[in-house]
Amino acid sequence: MQRPRILIIYTGGTIGMIHDVGSGTLVPFTLEAMLRRLPAIPELELNLSSVSLRKVIDSSNMSPMVWQELTAIISDNYHHYDGFVILHGSDTMAYTASALSFMLSGLAKPVILTGSQLPIGLVRTDARENIITSLMLAAMQKDGRPMINEVCIYFEDRLFRGNRTHKSNAENFDAFRSANYPVLADAGVHLKVHEEHLLSVPSAPFQTRPELENNIAVLPLYPGIDLIPYSEMFQSRGLRGLVLETFGAGNGPEDNGFLRSLRHIVDNGAVVVNVSQCRGGKVQMEKYATGRQLLDAGVISGSDMTVEAAITKLMHALAYSDSKATCEHFVKHSQRGEMTD
Ligand code: ASP
Repeated sequence: MQRPRILIIYTGGTIGMIHDVGSGTLVPFTLEAMLRRLPAIPELELNLSSVSLRKVIDSSNMSPMVWQELTAIISDNYHHYDGFVILHGSDTMAYTASALSFMLSGLAKPVILTGSQLPIGLVRTDARENIITSLMLAAMQKDGRPMINEVCIYFEDRLFRGNRTHKSNAENFDAFRSANYPVLADAGVHLKVHEEHLLSVPSAPFQTRPELENNIAVLPLYPGIDLIPYSEMFQSRGLRGLVLETFGAGNGPEDNGFLRSLRHIVDNGAVVVNVSQCRGGKVQMEKYATGRQLLDAGVISGSDMTVEAAITKLMHALAYSDSKATCEHFVKHSQRGEMTD
């Protein structure tokens, strides 16, 4: 049997950083130097290749342009590999995983992002296990084809649907959570893939959707918020989308000034998506009067989407919709398993 072919895409992040003696900070180093720290790789019996971004980065410097570069790398290599493992900083990994899930349409192969909390050169690093297990998961096959057909994050013993995750801890090795969707695989003594939670093989052929509209904003509500300065700023910038982070089940203050400003934003053509500040549970705007008024003002429900998924989905939807109605329809429904419909 042919060995599974996996492409490692190195973007930077703590996983491949070393201490720069001059500045005393952590800076990215090369992929080759990093892979030398993984002597067990040949034992995996994979056909491995690797490629780096043009410029490796701390993932806090992530941008839509880099997502487009990643999408192009995957697209150029799609038919030559059985799976892809992206080495990425943990800070914005959930954003990248969410963005790629929308940008890679008809994906029928695994794209697994992983990283680490400690650099690979340190004795206690979590990088080795994260990389090795990600490679093994990306190589898993069933009936002669890849078992996983989606963009995932593997971190500290668990495989998650990428667009369901958020970084929840800057200290612990288990840095990610998926509050509203079950884990896709557990890595203990055995690698247990929970097939019932995986996306099924898409019927449409693979194609990339690289355009993104980044004229959007994110606004977390707080008691006492004055929306007027925001709505003026949004109008002057011709804002096309807004992710509103609301309270509880999608609620906001019953304040006339607040509602007037919100209507103003909606009437100016922006698509406004409601996601909750609570990471678990979902938006139900019909439940309370404080939610219903947002619905009446033209806000649409983001259901149980993460903020990361809502932002990247909105960027994607705005770039590919010819009207506000089509954009809202796209955002309100699950496209890649990112929300409960
Ligand atoms: N700042 C780093 C990054 O996101 C943190 C990490 O990799 O965990 O690139």
